[in-house]
Amino acid sequence: MMYGYAGSVLRVNLSTGEIRREPLSEEMAEKYLGGRGFVAKMLYDELPPDIEPLGEKNMVLVAAGPLTGLFLPGSGKTHFGTKSPATGGYSDSNMGGHFGPTLKYAGYDVLVVTGKAPAPCYLFVEDEKVEIRAADAYWGKGAITTEERLKNDLGKDFQVITIGPAGEKGVRYACISHDFGRQAGRTGVGAVFGSKNLKAVAVKGTGGIPIFDAEGAYRKGKEAYRALFAKPGFEGWTPEGTAGITNWVNEVGVFPTRNFQTSFAEHYKQINGKAIIEKLKITDKGCFCCPIPCGKYGHTTTKLGSAYVEGPEYETIALFGGCCLLQSIEEVAYANHLCDEWGIDTISAGGVIGWAVECFEKGLISREQMGRDVRFADLETVAYLLEKIANREGIGDLLAEGVKVAAQRVGKGSDTFAIHVKGLEWSGYECRNAPGMMLAYMTADVGAHHNRAWVLGHDVAGSGASVHDLITAGGTGERLPKSPVPGKSAKVIEMQHVRPLFDALGICRLQYMELGFEVTHYEEIFHLVTGKKMSWEDMLQVSERIWHLTRAISVREIEGFGRSFDYPPPRFYTEPIPTGPNRGHCLSEEELQALLDEYYQARGWDKNGVPTRETLEHIGLGEVAADMEEKRRKPKA
Ligand code: SF4
Repeated sequence: MMYGYAGSVLRVNLSTGEIRREPLSEEMAEKYLGGRGFVAKMLYDELPPDIEPLGEKNMVLVAAGPLTGLFLPGSGKTHFGTKSPATGGYSDSNMGGHFGPTLKYAGYDVLVVTGKAPAPCYLFVEDEKVEIRAADAYWGKGAITTEERLKNDLGKDFQVITIGPAGEKGVRYACISHDFGRQAGRTGVGAVFGSKNLKAVAVKGTGGIPIFDAEGAYRKGKEAYRALFAKPGFEGWTPEGTAGITNWVNEVGVFPTRNFQTSFAEHYKQINGKAIIEKLKITDKGCFCCPIPCGKYGHTTTKLGSAYVEGPEYETIALFGGCCLLQSIEEVAYANHLCDEWGIDTISAGGVIGWAVECFEKGLISREQMGRDVRFADLETVAYLLEKIANREGIGDLLAEGVKVAAQRVGKGSDTFAIHVKGLEWSGYECRNAPGMMLAYMTADVGAHHNRAWVLGHDVAGSGASVHDLITAGGTGERLPKSPVPGKSAKVIEMQHVRPLFDALGICRLQYMELGFEVTHYEEIFHLVTGKKMSWEDMLQVSERIWHLTRAISVREIEGFGRSFDYPPPRFYTEPIPTGPNRGHCLSEEELQALLDEYYQARGWDKNGVPTRETLEHIGLGEVAADMEEKRRKPKA
């Protein structure tokens, strides 16, 4: 009996129609916990060599963790993994909602989809009944619309994940949607669904999850809720959710503005958390078992139309309100709605559109190529380009490739301000005076994503302050001093183990990160659920193992992968910030190199950022070391 786990892996080959169940590997659960750990391990073991991310041979995994679906705060997380169409390397993406719990109740910890269906299909799962069904009635429809229709057709107790038209068309940053506004947004997992002709997965589960000490786990769960309710900051977190940080990031000058040209937006009070409450919000909306719902469900009205929408959360505000400069929260929310329906990641979409507008302003993309005039601070520009991207029409076909490839094709120096790492567009923090956060973006395994390590509080406040502590702290309006560069790697590495650990356990990190929920809760709950004793340090070691493994996957999958893939765009080391609290600051190329040197050394990687044999063996990945040496002996043709 594997306590805490449903105990099975469901495998579906869409080319052959084969559906197979197999027992979950106890050894894998022991060494990788679940969720992100399962995704990394199974991709390492099973991904065929040298495949195209949008080809038939790629695989996509959907995984829950040992704490997913239980009576615990924030236990509704689901993890997706694949070879990324955005970066060509290891990728994963995390999603809240109710899907992971339901997958486990249906009897599965992991769903593995391979092959390509001959025609549009969706996967129907009702406990042991699993069928590949025709999706002609849903193909071409928006993600939110499809979810609503499938729930109407199958029943409200089905949990649905689906793609929109962007995923069908292979937009490399298409997302997977769920629960009318939750997304596995990053790295293009939705495009991989689309490349397999897979529109959706609908799951209903009526089973239970075996628990080592069910009574104790229930008692501990109740205690955990009470402890969370008593946390200082609990009352303050929910009303604005992640959008509550918008004021602070502007007041300390790290808000990505006008395609990251600067780091302060004059209009930030028009697009902050307070504006959400005043202009949009109808109710709070949360994931499975979450007592601090960060989702804000509301209604927006703009000159282009009106819509119900979940969000915007902070990252969407940063990319559409900052990078694209939309002037009101209603406009940001409308752009959010369009992305949700088209099935596009708001972060990458905002980054790509910001870059395209700057190219247009500089004359690098003509009006004829663009199809019309485009400009910053213009909702019509954003709506026009989103539609083009989602349908891969005209300029949208180029922009659907992502900012890295688009800049390579446009040339003329446009890569200087193509804001990405490894091909993944940068999320919502400008870091020319935040070297720790810059390093976190540079070394994040999936590309420029904040969810691996958020160390801005350390950079700016010189402390490990939580987001909640910082929301009310604000800035003084004075120009800030230059943040010191040396000594950043320790904090970055610490957070790169802490944050992704929650993805392996299958629960939300925000309770811990933002409200300071004690790690002892997780240790005790993990024991009561699984019967295994693991200290927080033991769990962090698993997270560290996963970190080295995902690096090894990208070394294996991407020719020449190494140090040069950890570089930020030239804008960040050649152009001082022109305005705001960090005006005049910029990191030099030497400082970036020093950041990487310090980080690689602390990680036990070589000068090119490749894990050494000694490091891999030390963390229990001796077989990976042997594989990597084999690969070096036989480079790709
Ligand atoms: Fe979901 Fe937000 Fe609650 Fe986390 S804090 S479980 S993301 S609603």
